[in-house]
Amino acid sequence: MLLKKTKIVATVGPACNTYEKLLALVNEGVNVFRLNFSHGTHDQHHEVIQHIRRINDDFPFNIAILADLQGPKLRVGDIENGELDLKQDDEFYFTNEKVVGTLNNIYISYPAFHRDVRIGEKILLDDGKIEVLVTEITADNRVKVQVTTPGVLYPRKGVNLPDTKISLPSLTDKDLADLEFIIGENVDWIALSFVRKTEDIIDLRQRLKDRNSPAKIIAKIEMPEALEHLRDIIIASDAVMVARGDLGVELPLQQVPMVQKKIVRMCIHRAKPVIIATQMMESMLDRTRPNRSEITDVANAVLEGADALMLSAETATGKYPELVIRTMSSIITEVEKEETVYNKNLIPQKHSPSFLSDALCYNACEIAHEVNANALIGMTQSGYTGFMLSSYRPRSPLFVFTKTQTLVNQLSLSWGVQAFYYDKEESIDTIIADQIDLLKQKGLIKTGDVVINTGSMPIQEHLPTNMLKITKA
Ligand code: PGA
Ligand code: MN
Repeated sequence: MLLKKTKIVATVGPACNTYEKLLALVNEGVNVFRLNFSHGTHDQHHEVIQHIRRINDDFPFNIAILADLQGPKLRVGDIENGELDLKQDDEFYFTNEKVVGTLNNIYISYPAFHRDVRIGEKILLDDGKIEVLVTEITADNRVKVQVTTPGVLYPRKGVNLPDTKISLPSLTDKDLADLEFIIGENVDWIALSFVRKTEDIIDLRQRLKDRNSPAKIIAKIEMPEALEHLRDIIIASDAVMVARGDLGVELPLQQVPMVQKKIVRMCIHRAKPVIIATQMMESMLDRTRPNRSEITDVANAVLEGADALMLSAETATGKYPELVIRTMSSIITEVEKEETVYNKNLIPQKHSPSFLSDALCYNACEIAHEVNANALIGMTQSGYTGFMLSSYRPRSPLFVFTKTQTLVNQLSLSWGVQAFYYDKEESIDTIIADQIDLLKQKGLIKTGDVVINTGSMPIQEHLPTNMLKITKA
């Protein structure tokens, strides 16, 4: 088993959606599979979920499944003859009537568009390749625009409105139907696209609670509005994705690198897993080696301290999914030889409600570092201790035990964590001895190794982490 610390999230698509191909990707270093609900049917997703569960049953993997909801993604409609050449200064109308697009009228999937948009605002089409400016809002609810950056428009391409305060709900009808399916399939992580405010997360969390779903929530940061509420969104979420695809269209693109660094720093600070997404290995869609800039992008994300790096089309539709994962794993492994990757200088926050157990986790990592421990072992009920231990980025192998199977999978997203199912509750002595034995059996530690355990006593009271022990295995 590959013991890299930084995790890999791979998007599933036609290029990798069989049991054998998924397994091959896992063997190359994938920890989490992402199902993109912008594509595919529920039947197709169901089949993939079955394959992943079977891989977890057949092998000692705990691959997590991440369902990515499309959210209020805006698109144009069909286009007459499949393409439309939009020239400089051309004028046309956006309409919320389902027409086939022509040089006169183009459909946009946004009923209240004419009410929300203002004259002078910018509209970006197809990842910002084409830019138009709003010049008029007509009495019949159409929006007149003028082309400022020309290009060819293809059917159903995405629309971004970086200047507009969008009134669409955070969960569309499609998302709600997808959510039903996702809850029914007991998926581990749910990502919400185009998060704008904390309430978007709170609303989704309530829906999960109402349905007794243990799924955890990932906030995709890809809107300027989300950056205004970043701190609260991170606190409300279980994990965060730096969704650079849409973010790079919504924001002036030169701002993306520093925003990425800021989000990563804030997430590590609050012990929330953070994923860097989009175009990490894009050139490998049809080539066997990545661009040099991509190699450095992957390396920098590891150095910044991201929990996980994500691949989209590279694994979903690209020519070389396996090679992409192998290449990414090799870059990660190489960079993780660097001392700067470890022991981020974060200290526990005095005002945090979990300050005491945070301080214990922090010191467990400090001691592990000081004695060069062969293993750092945590126990968790909610996941919190697992995420917290991980956030100090310890160099010692980090093993987390929990009696919640979903959590075993969920922790696959978290930097450096290898999680195991364990449900006995006799005495803390037995538990520690058992855990050490288990790791020995798996060949992860050997007799004489120095092991640091965290746990909670008395064991039956299920208190937050409150004890620390050093053992010679
Ligand atoms: P998407 O999200 O691939 O669902 O658009 C990722 C991104 O925007 O970077
Ligand atoms: Mn996106």
